[in-house]
Amino acid sequence: MIRVLPEEVLREIAAGEVVFSVADAVRELLENSLDAGATRVQVALWGGGLERLLVRDNGQGIPKEELPLAVERHTTSKLERLDRIQTLGFRGEGLYALRQAGRLRLTSRPREQLGAATVEAFLDEVRFYAHPGPPGTEAELKDLFLHLPARRRGLSPKEEERKVLLLLFRYLLHHPHLALGVRADGEERFVYPGGGFLEAAKAVWGPVVANRLLKVEHREGPYALEGLLSRPELARPRRDRLFLAVNGRPAEWPEGLLKAVLSAYRELLPKNSFPVGVLNLTLPPEEVLVHTAPEKARLRLLKDLSPFVEEGVRRALTSVPLARALPERSFG
Ligand code: ADP
Ligand code: MG
Repeated sequence: MIRVLPEEVLREIAAGEVVFSVADAVRELLENSLDAGATRVQVALWGGGLERLLVRDNGQGIPKEELPLAVERHTTSKLERLDRIQTLGFRGEGLYALRQAGRLRLTSRPREQLGAATVEAFLDEVRFYAHPGPPGTEAELKDLFLHLPARRRGLSPKEEERKVLLLLFRYLLHHPHLALGVRADGEERFVYPGGGFLEAAKAVWGPVVANRLLKVEHREGPYALEGLLSRPELARPRRDRLFLAVNGRPAEWPEGLLKAVLSAYRELLPKNSFPVGVLNLTLPPEEVLVHTAPEKARLRLLKDLSPFVEEGVRRALTSVPLARALPERSFG
């Protein structure tokens, strides 16, 4: 049920979801699809998404009597308690921010509902009508920032498209079960049928990288660390392919956890280099604070999970014989 957030909750969440780019818009829509339990998402962009973008999912849909509420500010069906956030969205601001950014249209249908309904919203205008449609939700955003020239300035279709793909890849690595299709200007850019971590890594990074990844799977009580990490020979000078998600939410690395990963590699990696990989850390939702930053990427963990993470990585690395990477030592 979609409801308006109570005043005391609003005071605590660092509010103000703002959409600055096509990728920001796609992230809001994709997170909504994942929260709705979608197993298939199709994304289509025209003009880098600045002209038009579509995100269609096969998730649970929005009942027609709630659809008009979905595009209002601070309306959400997700927030139960601020100290145990289980979903990617929770502020009820995503769709509201999108209708400030461009012409939003949402057509949705829960499986059990007979027909679909549509709500169109742009700034203060809202239109609502019945409309045929399959189960799931289709969101369209048109004319992004057309009325906000300062925000539109400097955005190029090519660059926006590139950023959208990077964003989708990032989410896919952490949610590899999701079947994903991406089209741009009518052409297919990416197709992925859904699978496990390794299939997603192969689709995103290619087989050469995927063949050098080791499985990480470590559990202890309510804690889990799952994903893939590279054999040391794949080390990179930058951290640009080492991704963490906490409870399904792509996150910046808390420093302690990054140290834990590198410390498990200790002698295997040259100094100032990083493995490639994707790690999903799962923990009880009350042990992670996610409402401190608007983009929700910075998290605060309430317990020190470095020993757990280090142990999980060490186990993965000792599961197979590994040679030390560079630099080669001279003997004799
Ligand atoms: P939030 O995600 O923080 O709840 P949003 O403004 O993004 O806020 O969405 C408002 C509400 O609309 C959600 O709580 C959800 O109930 C509904 N909703 C939005 N997108 C979808 C979707 N793709 N599938 C099902 N429900 C959706
Ligand atoms: Mg949302």
